[in-house]
Amino acid sequence: MDAVLFDLDDTLLNYSEGADAVYARSLAEVAAPLSLDVPALVAELDAVRQWFWGDPIRHRRERTDMPGAWRKIYVEALCRQRVPAARAEALGAEMARRFTEARWEVVRPLPGAFNLLEALAARGVPLGMITNGDAAQQREKLRRFDLERHFRVIVIEGEFGRGKPDREVFAHALEVLGVEARQTWMVGDNLEFDIGGAQALGARGVWIDRHGKGPPAGAAVRPDRVVSSVAELDDWH
Ligand SMILES: [Mg+2]
Repeated sequence: MDAVLFDLDDTLLNYSEGADAVYARSLAEVAAPLSLDVPALVAELDAVRQWFWGDPIRHRRERTDMPGAWRKIYVEALCRQRVPAARAEALGAEMARRFTEARWEVVRPLPGAFNLLEALAARGVPLGMITNGDAAQQREKLRRFDLERHFRVIVIEGEFGRGKPDREVFAHALEVLGVEARQTWMVGDNLEFDIGGAQALGARGVWIDRHGKGPPAGAAVRPDRVVSSVAELDDWH
């Protein structure tokens, strides 16, 4: 292989698992002392999150400012539960502030991730990072876990101005690494964005199917390899 490109969230770092509890706790800390109906608000919050991130256009627009998105989600949930708008704005902002801080509790390296990076580096394989989302949040993740040193190119949507699965994102990474797509692998948990995006340029894709559910029915993208976690890529060591 000429090079390996990695996704960040839920590929190298756990990001999603445990987030629900942090969402609910940040809400409860603010709402409970005010005698608001916490269970109803938590249920509303779940529904609003589904709605908010379920629209691909909104997803693309909002994911480069995550603290802002979190505030909008809390405010929307409060408004839907008939909290007056001005009060919802203030409480939602406080819930989002707490969530933004507490969110870090569940972000942690996934098993085998750092070993794989070290092993590939020891083999001299050039590595790239391609991650969608908020520039400040993604940089902070890389900094906290001392990940930047592993990568010759780091493409963050919020810095680059384009995100996966856009062709330019992958083309830029390959150009900086000076490698051909054909002998390059992309590793990621998003079938369409990570694998589909990379394959469109002729690269190969390892899909992380964390829950072993297989591709969704009707999925157009066929990964070149499927694993349940990067720990299974020990044949790359
Ligand atoms: Mg991911």
